Amino acid sequence: MKTIIAASRNAHKIKEIETITAKFGMRVISRDEAGLPPEEIEETGATFEENSLLKARTICALSGQPTIADDSGLMVDYLDGAPGVYSARFAGEDQNDRRNNEKLLKLLDGVPQEQRTAKFVSVVSLVFPDGEELVARGECPGHMLTEYHGTGGFGYDPLFLPDGCEKTFAEMNAEEKNAVSHRARALAVLEELLQARKPQADM
Ligand code: IMP
Repeated sequence: MKTIIAASRNAHKIKEIETITAKFGMRVISRDEAGLPPEEIEETGATFEENSLLKARTICALSGQPTIADDSGLMVDYLDGAPGVYSARFAGEDQNDRRNNEKLLKLLDGVPQEQRTAKFVSVVSLVFPDGEELVARGECPGHMLTEYHGTGGFGYDPLFLPDGCEKTFAEMNAEEKNAVSHRARALAVLEELLQARKPQADM
């Protein structure tokens, strides 16, 4: 089985990535398991693509191993795409899901259902030591609710109802979330990119 390093240390994200990469024979280990330095990588990019590549390139250069990174976030139409790349630090630098959600609820206070459209976006990058880079984007459209539903997941999960679903991400199990999530969709695109490069490459 091939090993790739995950640039993220978000256990939820790594689990979601692994559920999918396992299907095509890739074992994911975290950057901590790989014994890499614990310093945070500053997300200075203006887009999900830039931040995703920044993280994957940095860890790949440090480790010399293929590295997968995800940059993701929530884009709310009524807020002109905010919090976007600032999703993790929407309510301030020290990441706190509850405070981020409270800020979002406040900004959307009184906004009617039909104007609460939003989407989760994930850009997954796989960077190889020889400089090859695969970049895949996935989106999951839905609505922001007015109150919390469910206790699972992380981030904005309890406030997000994906289109065509009756449960929020926080009410779904991992399998249900992986059937529709932005990250799963990005990973499906990545899988296609990996399949397309198969003849020339081994990890
Ligand atoms: P990143 O680590 O810079 O990609 O931060 C992404 C942030 O976007 C997270 O901290 C969450 O606030 C939010 N986010 C991304 N994906 C999800 C998800 O699947 N559910 C809930 N929140 C998410």
